[in-house]
Amino acid sequence: MKTIKGIHELGKFILQKKEIAFIPTMGNLHDGHLALVRKARSLNKLVLVSIFVNEIQFNNAADYNSYPRTLKEDLIKLRKENVDIVFVPNKKQMNTINNFITFDLKKMQHGLCDKNRPGHFEGVISIIARFCNIIRPSYLIMGKKDYQQLFIVKKFLNEFCYPIKVLSVNTKREQSGLAMSSRNSLIAKKHLLIAPMLYQQLTYIKTNLKKMSSLSSIEKKVASELEKNGWKVEYVTIRSQKTLFIPTCNERKLVALVAAYLGKVRLIDNIEFCI
Ligand code: AMP
Repeated sequence: MKTIKGIHELGKFILQKKEIAFIPTMGNLHDGHLALVRKARSLNKLVLVSIFVNEIQFNNAADYNSYPRTLKEDLIKLRKENVDIVFVPNKKQMNTINNFITFDLKKMQHGLCDKNRPGHFEGVISIIARFCNIIRPSYLIMGKKDYQQLFIVKKFLNEFCYPIKVLSVNTKREQSGLAMSSRNSLIAKKHLLIAPMLYQQLTYIKTNLKKMSSLSSIEKKVASELEKNGWKVEYVTIRSQKTLFIPTCNERKLVALVAAYLGKVRLIDNIEFCI
């Protein structure tokens, strides 16, 4: 495994190599990230993982500053997974501040994380574009855990004609059902027992939707159940997998998405299902 910090060094190295399967991460790696690495490995391409905490996708400085950084441990995990290259650039090299690569997100105002984290997806697109320009991967591997992010990145790459195939990987969970996330380490001890409730409530939607009179009645029920148990809910909503907007009456492939705070920690999760 080669750890590379500079763009020019990376450029020289990947020029001589075969097709690349690329996994962008912000580090503090867990089994969810490693599932993406394993998917990449299965393609028999050069596997390249980036670790970069992208300041411009954070909504406030405190969240950015408290984001867990564990580079040493991350590198050990990636070495065990036989990753070929880890790219660890610094902020200056990625040159993100004040230099947004713009992509019109107006058509994608789903009222989900886009609404609750203004500027977040602009920051995501900006860094993904930079990485793809530098690395020129054939495959980009991303998690369904960040469902709206996956949707928007796919759209961006498609509309800007990047010759990149996006592959998605199902959300890896703890035994309790809690979606693995770098933010889980920030959950207060007193909240650990109720954290799995997020996924339990999504499962409840999947199982009980048919019995309910409307989508909004089950969304409201779940939001109120979460609030009763100490969560601060941003959204609980059922959407079309295809558009991420409210489904039309003949759409069958749906996804329930939730974002909620447990203390100061914002967690998101989702579940796909067909009706
Ligand atoms: P992050 O480091 O949070 O930016 O995530 C990097 C990639 O890992 C994104 O494509 C995420 O969707 C994906 N990811 C994060 N958590 C999980 C999980 N629990 N299961 C599968 N993929 C995940």
